[in-house]
Amino acid sequence: MLSLKLPRLLSSNQVPEGYQEQGILFGYRHPRSSATDCLLSVFQMTNETLNIWTHFVPTWYFLWHLAGSLPPRDGRAGAGAWPFLAYLLSCCLYPFASSCAHTFSTMSSRARHICYFFDYAALSTYSLGSALAYSAYIFPKEWVNSTFHYYYVPIAVFNTVVSTSLSCYSRFLEVERSRFSKASRTLAFVYPYLFDSIPLFYRFYLCAAESCTEAVIRAHYKHTALAFLTCFIFASHLPERLAPGHFDYIGHSHQVFHVCGIIGTHFQMEAIRMDMTERHDWLLATSMLPSALQTLGSMGICMAVSLTVIGLCSVSLSFMPEPSQREKLHGH
Ligand SMILES: [Zn+2]
Repeated sequence: MLSLKLPRLLSSNQVPEGYQEQGILFGYRHPRSSATDCLLSVFQMTNETLNIWTHFVPTWYFLWHLAGSLPPRDGRAGAGAWPFLAYLLSCCLYPFASSCAHTFSTMSSRARHICYFFDYAALSTYSLGSALAYSAYIFPKEWVNSTFHYYYVPIAVFNTVVSTSLSCYSRFLEVERSRFSKASRTLAFVYPYLFDSIPLFYRFYLCAAESCTEAVIRAHYKHTALAFLTCFIFASHLPERLAPGHFDYIGHSHQVFHVCGIIGTHFQMEAIRMDMTERHDWLLATSMLPSALQTLGSMGICMAVSLTVIGLCSVSLSFMPEPSQREKLHGH
């Protein structure tokens, strides 16, 4: 039977400090697993299994949406679809990078860091994908072609560089300053989200002031509420913090964080699609829809810089002692 050949799972005090998760006491894979063991662990119930599946399945869901939107239709009806395609691509990338990171993160300490560098870079790319779609389809009418609108995407590109750098750097602080590491990583993802959402928040404000009943605003409320819930769950480590050991395999905060994030992305995609359809003629008339070159150029810059940051951080890992070595030095 397959289950008999699967590697033994470990408790939190049997794995190095950098691998331990708050409130999760058992179900850890060996910190030096082979690639095959990591792949097999996808079918074994460990404390990472649902983290892997909750992002692997949605990757295919968003790929299905991306494939359904390709190729962009020619002519007027398909004009300006590129930012939506770039957004959908970023929606496929971040769950895919995350599921790979959760699968292979136990090969070694170095592999773990590099896996999560890619995970963070993909999340930053998603924030740029959102900014591209927001700039093209959801900007409040009063702000279209304003100075803020003009600099919105370039600032979002800059934010992805800062976000990737800060989140990757936070891993270097993980063992010695874990609270500061977690806080800086949360900030690295929250602040590009808040920046991206400025035009949306202004539309919420206008809608509240005018007591509007637009269905699209209700759709935007849904994904915004889920984004705040996702951030709260990520930062709070609930529920396992209240009952350590009870949510090791099912129901711990990271799984809930994945699920809420994906549902939020689904609502965000639907809201963007509604705005794109409802405002298409008006958007074309304002000639504000970016070309393929502008859209793909921004994504290309973001990905190239993120890969450079990952390369630099990966090289710097050589100067960081392995957690296990550190533990020996400290006599744990
Ligand atoms: Zn994750």
